[in-house]
Amino acid sequence: MDQYFDERVESIFQTIRKRNAGEPEFHQAVRELLESVAVVLKRHPHYDQQGLLQRLCEPERQIIFRVPWIDDEGNIHVNRGFRVQYNSVLGPYKGGLRFHPSVNLSIIKFLAFEQIFKNALTGMPIGGAKGGADFDPKGRSDTEIMRFCQSFMTELHNYIGQYTDVPAGDIGVGGREIGWLFGQYKRMRNSYESGVLTGKGTSWGGSQVRTEATGYGLVYFTQEILKHRGLDFDGQTAVVSGAGNVAIYSVEKIQQLGGEVVAMSDSTGFVYDPEGIDLAAMLEVKLERRGRIVDYCALVPRAEFHEQRHRIWTVPCDVALPCATQNELDEVAAETLVKNGVKVVAEGANMPCTPEAIRVFRAAGVAFGPGKAANAGGVATSALEMQQNASRDSWTFEYTEERLATIMKRIHQRCIGTAAEYGYAGDYLMGANIAGFRKVADAMLALGII
Ligand code: GLU
Repeated sequence: MDQYFDERVESIFQTIRKRNAGEPEFHQAVRELLESVAVVLKRHPHYDQQGLLQRLCEPERQIIFRVPWIDDEGNIHVNRGFRVQYNSVLGPYKGGLRFHPSVNLSIIKFLAFEQIFKNALTGMPIGGAKGGADFDPKGRSDTEIMRFCQSFMTELHNYIGQYTDVPAGDIGVGGREIGWLFGQYKRMRNSYESGVLTGKGTSWGGSQVRTEATGYGLVYFTQEILKHRGLDFDGQTAVVSGAGNVAIYSVEKIQQLGGEVVAMSDSTGFVYDPEGIDLAAMLEVKLERRGRIVDYCALVPRAEFHEQRHRIWTVPCDVALPCATQNELDEVAAETLVKNGVKVVAEGANMPCTPEAIRVFRAAGVAFGPGKAANAGGVATSALEMQQNASRDSWTFEYTEERLATIMKRIHQRCIGTAAEYGYAGDYLMGANIAGFRKVADAMLALGII
């Protein structure tokens, strides 16, 4: 019986792999989820009888469109825009937009697939989606990026709406871009629909804490993991990869809780700061000047700069938070972290650890918080933004942060509880995948073959 369902899941996966040839990131995300849920099919064979896995793995709708724009010198450029509306069984499609040269259908599909279960775990009424473009904002002027956002929204506005699909930011899309996107949407529709995008400015419909939410939420989740092991952040050494919103606000919260962050990175390398990252200096270099991380050393001369960003994982730490991008932490890095005594690894980025790295952590008994649970605070706060928009209200920073902290605690409990129920006590990956899957699957069963 056991083997029957393992083989069944493998054969469903092989069919999906063939139908979606050349999409390695998508295969990776699907495989991880399917492997975790074989144990659910054993207990509840009706999921399989209803074709749930096959239905779940096929996006409801995939939109690919041309995004033409003109640079400051008058040259014409064409980029490719995407929106994968994966699953809307729990609510309107919800998920960010990524502007990065690496963006392709595989990447957007894996992100949208992860988003379904992440959003389910938050307990909020939101479906799963993701979008973006293979546009590189690096080195582009403000006016070029604004024109790009306007062209992107000129097409995307046809497919989104507060009850249909609610995009937000991701890599390369922050508050500034959301402003330009919202401005164009409002103009195309002649209608002020605050709830169509999240991550808006706080003076025009945005929520307090949304900017900080993914990082803060990640640290709250990590704090729950530590508590569960009889520990807390006080005196722990942490390494946080990345230097965007997620990384920066993770560092801020770790420091507030008494931990010390000794290394951060960007695409050009990493800095090691033996006395702990000076957050004000990092904010100035990365968020205000949009510069390279090496410039941190000019402001903080005690820090060392190293060129290979992957080597950040050779810095010894108790807590490792990969917050840069997918597949940034591989098997060799995982082995080094384990050798250096890491206790907790939690994913601030989406799928930053390779499957081999995850195997190393689980085999070594390191607590591993998968992204769909650990980084869910961002989208959860987006759902709080939607709630404020729907009631034409705006909450205080303190109240919103309290709501976020409660949501992260509940996600932690849900992971722990579900893992134990299925015989995998303490396994956050199994807990998150099974709990997310069951919530979506039960709703799909209730809504019929759609
Ligand atoms: N891009 C973020 C994520 O990966 C946030 C999405 C949102 O707020 O809709 O979850």
